[in-house]
Amino acid sequence: MSGETNPFESLQEQVADAAAYLDADPGVIRRLQEPERVLETNLTFERDDGSLETVRAYRSQFNGDRGPYKGGIRYHPGVTRDEVKALSGWMVYKCAVVDVPYGGGKGGISIDPTEYSEPELERMTRAFAKELRPIIGEDIDIPAPDVNTGQREMNWIKDTYETLENTTAPGVITGKALDSGGSEGRVEATGRSVALAARETFDWLGGSVADATVAVQGYGNAGSVAASLLADLGATVVAVSDSGGGVHDPDGFDPRDVKRHKTETGAVADYEGTEAVTNEELLTLDVDLLVPAALENAIDGDLANDVRADVIVEAANGPLTPGADDVLAERDVTVVPDIFANAGGVTVSYFEWVQNRQRFHWTEARVNEELERIITEAFEGLVDAYAEHDLPNLRTAAYVVAIERVIRSYEQGGTWP
Ligand code: NAD
Repeated sequence: MSGETNPFESLQEQVADAAAYLDADPGVIRRLQEPERVLETNLTFERDDGSLETVRAYRSQFNGDRGPYKGGIRYHPGVTRDEVKALSGWMVYKCAVVDVPYGGGKGGISIDPTEYSEPELERMTRAFAKELRPIIGEDIDIPAPDVNTGQREMNWIKDTYETLENTTAPGVITGKALDSGGSEGRVEATGRSVALAARETFDWLGGSVADATVAVQGYGNAGSVAASLLADLGATVVAVSDSGGGVHDPDGFDPRDVKRHKTETGAVADYEGTEAVTNEELLTLDVDLLVPAALENAIDGDLANDVRADVIVEAANGPLTPGADDVLAERDVTVVPDIFANAGGVTVSYFEWVQNRQRFHWTEARVNEELERIITEAFEGLVDAYAEHDLPNLRTAAYVVAIERVIRSYEQGGTWP
């Protein structure tokens, strides 16, 4: 991991790289490199021993030109103001790439959630929801899960918001449990779009994902589902890892069984019939497809020289530094960017919000069918832009498509006052 790359600077560089291919006013591009506003706040809550603790929390609302701010909430010690700003910007361009009517936001609490009991996490989450209440809402800003948060936290936030507002507003947050207004298919959605993105990319390159060997870094929601659905498409998953290290079997294994092992033991390590690998070894394995599904900056310019995969599909947000992008482009490694590949999560969050607003429930088949249509159409838009503007890589293509859409809606609204 490269700890030196500031993800917010990476975002700004990615926007600038794409802007070079667009005939846009520099003032407008500048506006697309900075958040509109950032809430930085303290949360004070009671520990189980009766003492009070105060932690730092953030919510960045990056751009709302295309609709309400939308983006997850992360609980991690690495959460900083700049990380949240970067993640909120990536949400703007992600929503625009798949053309869902949202802007971008992101939030987080700078904590290690494993150090707290469930009642402590609930009190902390409700304290965060209380701080967020004035700036979120079904038509304003709609949070969702991210690293170390899930249905449980979303249900708490929904309940706190609805209680304080004395209303019913399930669309204020997505990624909820089904009985609290969640959508079928939301848990699998991010991994599903990663698998679909891989399928489309291998087809585009003239091959088939069914013939691919795969390594996945990070075995949480995004990584474990992507691995399972890639195996369903016929790919051979040969290595996976989590923060406790990785496992490798060149003949492949059943990713769902590894998930069972992780659920039982807490880690992928020691999965039967595999050899241990470090995270660095996993990232440089000789595989056809590498899926980074952990955190930012997993591969920097140095490590990129040792990557042996032909295709990288980014499940995580920002796993490659701009330096890694340059090296991989030079080495003809096809990189499928995060803002497209993991957009299934926000797309099904959008479906959840639509169902909440309509008080209607879609079947899982309908959710998956609509998701597949959106991802395959978005991929076509991306490769068309790549060819039409003669762009250096698919990441720039994704930003070109997204920035054009955001600028169009900004200009149609007009500069005011
Ligand atoms: P998660 O908490 O469910 O899983 C994260 C996984 O990464 C865990 O298995 C953890 O052990 C592993 N990990 C952490 N540090 C690691 C390291 N140094 N090496 C190897 N593994 C490591 O989180 P998630 O929801 O799966 O999110 C993962 C990434 O996907 C994040 O970048 C997130 O922003 C992105 N993402 C998630 C969603 C979603 O809907 N969950 C949507 C879009 C993008």
